[in-house]
Amino acid sequence: MFSTVAIVGAGTMGQGIAQLLVESGLTVRLHDRSAEALSQAIDAVTRRLQRRTDMDTSAAATANLLLSTPCLAQITDVELAIEAVPERLELKQVVFAELDRCLPASAVLASNTSGLDIDKLANSTTRPERVLGLHFFNPPSLMPLIEVVPGAVTDSAVLAAVQAFAEQLGKTPITVANRPGFVVNRLLFAMIAEAVRIVDEGETPAQDVDRALCLGASHPIGPLALADFIGLDVVLDILQSLVSGLGTRYEPSAVLHELVTQGHLGRKSGRGFFSY
Ligand code: NAD
Repeated sequence: MFSTVAIVGAGTMGQGIAQLLVESGLTVRLHDRSAEALSQAIDAVTRRLQRRTDMDTSAAATANLLLSTPCLAQITDVELAIEAVPERLELKQVVFAELDRCLPASAVLASNTSGLDIDKLANSTTRPERVLGLHFFNPPSLMPLIEVVPGAVTDSAVLAAVQAFAEQLGKTPITVANRPGFVVNRLLFAMIAEAVRIVDEGETPAQDVDRALCLGASHPIGPLALADFIGLDVVLDILQSLVSGLGTRYEPSAVLHELVTQGHLGRKSGRGFFSY
C-alpha cells in the first residue's frame, strides 16, 4: 500500500489532492516548479487542514505529513507520484521522464490528466507497466469519484493497488477506458462547450444558461459556474485536447479565448463568466 506520495504541480488539483491525502494520514511531498506557487500551496493546504481537522490535531502533526519538495531529484522515498501539472501533453511527458529518472524503480507514476492519452505518458518512461491515470475531481476532498485509467501495458497488480488506494481514501474508483476525456469529461465538456457557444451567440446571458440547467435539469451547478470553478485556462486546455482527440464538437468559442487572454480565469482570478 502507498504511504508516502509525491504530488507534482501544486495548483488547484495538487493542493486538493495533498489535502485529501494528508487527511487520510498519508505523508505527502508536494512539488511545483515555481517556488512561489509551492510556498503559497503549502500555506493554503495547511490553513484548510487546520480548519477541518480536530482541535487536538496539532499544526506540527500537519507539518510532519505535508512536506514541500523544491527539487524532484531529492525524492527517493515515495511509492507513488501523482502528476497534476497543466493539461499539455508535451509538458506532462517531460515531467514523467523526470519522475522516471528520479524515483525508485518500484514507484508507480500516476497522472491526474483530465483526458490525455495515458500510453503517451507511459511511453515517456522506462516503466510503462507502472504508469496509469488517476483522475480526481474538484474539490478532491469532497468529490466521491476517482476515474482509474490503465494504459495498454499497465500491470494488473498496479491497477489493483491503485484501486485499493482510491478506496482507502474513501472514494469510489471506476476503471475507465483510455479514450480522450475518459467518461466524465467527455460528457461534461461537451455540455460546457455548448454552454459557452450559447453565450457566444449573444442572445442568452451566462446567468440564464446556468439557471436553465439548474432549474430545468436539476443540475446542482450550472455549466458556466462550473467552468469558472475549474479555471477557464484549464477548461480551454482541456477543450483543445478533446478537439484533437474527438473532433470539433469540443471547439472552444471565441468568448472563452477572450476571457482567458484578458486574465479572467474564473474563481481563482475573481472573474470569469461571473464575478466573485
Ligand atoms: P493549475 O494551473 O491550477 O496548477 C498547475 C500547477 O503546475 C501550477 O502551480 C504550475 O506552477 C505547476 N507546474 C507547471 N509546470 C510544472 C512542472 N514542469 N513541474 C512542476 N510543476 C509544474 O492546474 P490544475 O487545475 O491543478 O490542473 C492540473 C491537472 O489536473 C490538469 O491536467 C487538469 O486537466 C487536471 N484536472 C483539473 C481539474 C480542475 O477542476 N481544475 C479537475 C480534474 C483534473
